[in-house]
Amino acid sequence: MEQMEKEAAKSKESKATGGLGFLNFIKGMKEISTLAKDRGYHLPCTYIFEDKVVAQIEKVEWTNTKGSAGHLLYLTKMYCLDMERGSGVGTRFMEEIKRIVDETGMVLFLFATSFSFSNEDNGLPYAFLSMDELLKQWEAGEKLTGTDGDILLFEWYTRLGFLNACTHDGDIWPVKEYHRLNKQFLYVGAKNPDQDLYLNRANESGMCGYCRNQK
Ligand SMILES: [Zn+2]
Repeated sequence: MEQMEKEAAKSKESKATGGLGFLNFIKGMKEISTLAKDRGYHLPCTYIFEDKVVAQIEKVEWTNTKGSAGHLLYLTKMYCLDMERGSGVGTRFMEEIKRIVDETGMVLFLFATSFSFSNEDNGLPYAFLSMDELLKQWEAGEKLTGTDGDILLFEWYTRLGFLNACTHDGDIWPVKEYHRLNKQFLYVGAKNPDQDLYLNRANESGMCGYCRNQK
């Protein structure tokens, strides 16, 4: 009986913090950044930090992963103004994001691929001198072009404490042929109630067959 009550209380708590987690995440993000929406752009869930870095972080879920609808965040894109690369501002922003993810018990994942904006598919990358120039392009087209910074990017996320993990659920998040395990990164917030469940995705036993075969 006692055990059941505990379980019930735990699940209630998990539900409560689940919903609040996301609202608190947004609240925390608003304290350190500006929403692109508040600057008049049609870019949802897009946060601008010090007018130099921008990140889009959406609320998503993994089918069959308990509580993920309340906890899971997907970093769709992060971009630093060209002239600010290497200044440490991107790292500072990510440290802040991690702090807020920790405090709100959220979980963040991403596919690390270095990209730039271009006027044609696989064309030459643009360079941006101002955030508004960048946001206008981001809003308008999303024509992205690959750059050769992948290895540096992988090292960056690893240094920041992200884990290589399986990000698939065989449903909304299917395996794609180009998905490499070393590009899939996960950060589990310190206060997440189902931490082990997420952390296990970095272990072979918690991976889908496709990711496990790359170990
Ligand atoms: Zn996988």
